[in-house]
Amino acid sequence: MARTKLQRCVECGAFGLSEQCPECKGRMEAVAPLKYSPEDPQGARRRKRIDAGSEEWVDQLPSTDGDDLDE
Ligand SMILES: [Zn+2]
Repeated sequence: MARTKLQRCVECGAFGLSEQCPECKGRMEAVAPLKYSPEDPQGARRRKRIDAGSEEWVDQLPSTDGDDLDE
């Protein structure tokens, strides 16, 4: 019975069986059992996808400076 756990690179998402990514030499974590990661390794990628922080992103946020506040 194999005890080697499937590892997944937290940097590029590549799969492997070692603790170092064969693709980018990044850190790898065991795929199973799945556990919540407070570091949210996919967070940066997700934010980059929606371009968070850009002016376009700010413009589409709900704004509080409407006409009602214009004194
Ligand atoms: Zn990698």
